Amino acid sequence: MHFIVCIKQVPEGTEVEIDEEKGILKREGVDSKLNVYDAYALEAAVALKETYGGTVTVLSMGPLQAQDVIKEAYTLGADDGYLLSDRKFAGADTLATSYALSEAIRRLPPADVIFCGMQTTDGDTAQVGPGIAELLELPHASYVSKISGMEDGCIFVEADMGDGIEELRIGLPCLLTVTKDLNQPRLPSYKLKKATQNRKVNVWDSKALEGADPSHFGLDGSPTQVERIFPPPKAHSKELWQGSPDALSQKFYAKLKELKYL
Ligand SMILES: Cc1cc2nc3c(=O)[nH]c(=O)nc-3n(C[C@H](O)[C@H](O)[C@H](O)COP(=O)(O)OP(=O)(O)OC[C@H]3O[C@@H](n4cnc5c(N)ncnc54)[C@H](O)[C@@H]3O)c2cc1C
Repeated sequence: MHFIVCIKQVPEGTEVEIDEEKGILKREGVDSKLNVYDAYALEAAVALKETYGGTVTVLSMGPLQAQDVIKEAYTLGADDGYLLSDRKFAGADTLATSYALSEAIRRLPPADVIFCGMQTTDGDTAQVGPGIAELLELPHASYVSKISGMEDGCIFVEADMGDGIEELRIGLPCLLTVTKDLNQPRLPSYKLKKATQNRKVNVWDSKALEGADPSHFGLDGSPTQVERIFPPPKAHSKELWQGSPDALSQKFYAKLKELKYL
């Protein structure tokens, strides 16, 4: 069995800073970590490897610093890792990201199951997983919250559709995007940390994807263009009121009327 897990390095914390001039998220010089949903995807792949045998390959696209999340994945049970890193991939929207990742997957040993997180904590679109599956013409399921097992060339999963759970049998090869209900990711292993400290990350530039259409990479291959990006205005004006409960409640009532809530 060969499991491929797409993992993305995202800014640490919930406060994503925005470069309003360039219309992009500020990623350089920002502390980064493995996208949380991708940890669940990796755990699922490693658990299946432990049950059914095989190997786990992780794949990422991003700047060279994204090698860190691949090395982290080695300490969590991944066997091999690839990073797509080239200026030509920069400025990609979700379609161009899905295209580059799918072309890399075509050049890796054939996968039985490709895993993605259900979304990222920065871009948050949840489009890349289904995008890869469509480009590779693979069956796919999103929001997978349970994997029951694999048998006769199929995988049995439950997908949480919000208003109900779908039980699915999907033919291999396929792509799954996963939720946090799927499992409890293991902690990095000291033994694996020692064993994998010299393991290389395979870095592929755009030339490594020879045969792919370079006009579909990066900004050139991105049909969506950001017109403007800005943080929502912060409603921070505060007033401190003091007085008796009667006076305060009258003042509050008057304020609500003034703001047309009443
Ligand atoms: C018009 C436009 C311009 C953009 N320009 C830039 C830019 O200049 N620079 C920039 O850094 N970003 C840019 N982005 C953001 C970029 O498109 C997204 O970060 C990227 O496509 C992934 O989308 P997402 O974060 O919404 O992933 P989601 O679809 O929410 O992620 C789902 C899953 O897909 C997988 N995945 C997603 N991205 C990757 C990845 N890179 N490597 C491996 N696996 C992945 C992971 O498994 C993840 O859990 C731009 C987006 C748009 C729409």
